[in-house]
Amino acid sequence: MKLARATKKGNRSFYLEFMMMTLVPLIVCGIVMMMVCSRAVDMSMTTEAEDNLKNVAVTVLAAYEQAYPGKYEAALEDGAIKLYKGGTVISDDFVLVDGIKEKSGVDITIFGVDTRLITTLKDSSGERMTMSVASEKIVDDVYGRHSPRFYNNVSIGGVEYYAYYAPVDEEADGKCIGMIGIAKPATVIKQSINRSVRNNLIVMVLAILITSFFITRFASNLVTIVKLMLDFMKELGENKLDAKIDARVVQREDELGEMGRNLKNLQIALRRLIERDVLTGLFNRRSAEKRIDEIEESGVKYSVAIGDIDHFKNFNDTFGHECGDVVLREVAHLLNEGMSGREGFVARWGGEEFLLVFVNCGIEEARDALMIIRQALHDNEVEYDMQIHKVTMTFGAAEKVPGVAINHLIRAADDKLYEGKQSGRDRVIV
Ligand code: GH3
Ligand code: MG
Ligand code: MG
Repeated sequence: MKLARATKKGNRSFYLEFMMMTLVPLIVCGIVMMMVCSRAVDMSMTTEAEDNLKNVAVTVLAAYEQAYPGKYEAALEDGAIKLYKGGTVISDDFVLVDGIKEKSGVDITIFGVDTRLITTLKDSSGERMTMSVASEKIVDDVYGRHSPRFYNNVSIGGVEYYAYYAPVDEEADGKCIGMIGIAKPATVIKQSINRSVRNNLIVMVLAILITSFFITRFASNLVTIVKLMLDFMKELGENKLDAKIDARVVQREDELGEMGRNLKNLQIALRRLIERDVLTGLFNRRSAEKRIDEIEESGVKYSVAIGDIDHFKNFNDTFGHECGDVVLREVAHLLNEGMSGREGFVARWGGEEFLLVFVNCGIEEARDALMIIRQALHDNEVEYDMQIHKVTMTFGAAEKVPGVAINHLIRAADDKLYEGKQSGRDRVIV
């Protein structure tokens, strides 16, 4: 059964999904917070306005108390209501209220029942609005029910006001003779509410923009890293085992970096599995051929040698296959050691045959190296199952001649090996 390759590209984007899961809730939260915040600012500034108006009312009443100690009285004289305080007519005197208005910036009115007797309010022609009356609802709420009230939508002379009204009694616990009204134009308060809300909105929008910027940057970084890993995995899937994983992935110190490093280890393990011989750990024949091709392409001079263990079939038959494996590993180790410090490599060419490639090395130098290796093998003792074993090896070598194909070069080394076997083994023939 043929294995299907899992190369189908997913049609969902991690980036888009991530952005949807972060930016959308952030923006929705931002809008809700803006609405809640605007409402809170509106309420708190309205309450603040109410407190201010209430304080001015207290100040005005205290000022009258101080200037004219005694009780309030209202009397109808010559068809007009006059307001007395402590026996003095105060309804002709606007100095006190005008003074407080100048300091506080709010309009002050003292009503006789529902009629403005003393007021700082002026109509569009600049006339003081005395003798005008408060709305029935206000009179009913404040005078009728004898309780203070705050309104944020009182229309006086066609102008919208925030206004606070409180009943004025003849004397403490006496009968109610009118009201005090403190008013501030709604536009002034609304302007400062709007200013405050606008400032909050600007801060919030800025915060959302900055957060969005960082989220977007984080997400696109993440996507870049994931894409780099995907590219690398794709190359591995296409058998490109020499592929390089981008440094940006493996340099990361987070889980993605760890994934990248594990991928790299996986690549090393895969390469090892494909390129190396399991028993000896040397390059296998396939990767040896690939390496010789690369050396050939680079155009440098090189020599090859084939080494074959002498009478190894006999050795196996006598001491067993397992013991033979131990010897093979030991031989591989000695060959590798013999090549250390030299340019080139050793590979397991066949069962008990090994290929040695000497790079930048002529046949004389290769022979000298092989003589040392052969001697080391000859002298080596392998201990297995409480017994000492010894094997020897015969080598045949040839130098690369320009224009001669690689397989002919190896055949030449093989011929020399055969010559060595024929002439008594445990020797190097070039
Ligand atoms: P010669 O000196 O002419 O090379 O004699 P030889 O016995 O070594 O020749 P031959 O090529 O006939 O024998 C090779 C033997 O190598 C046969 C096989 O039992 C042994 N061999 C090959 N691969 C392995 C292996 O992986 N493990 C073990 N233990 N033995 C192996
Ligand atoms: Mg053989
Ligand atoms: Mg042999």
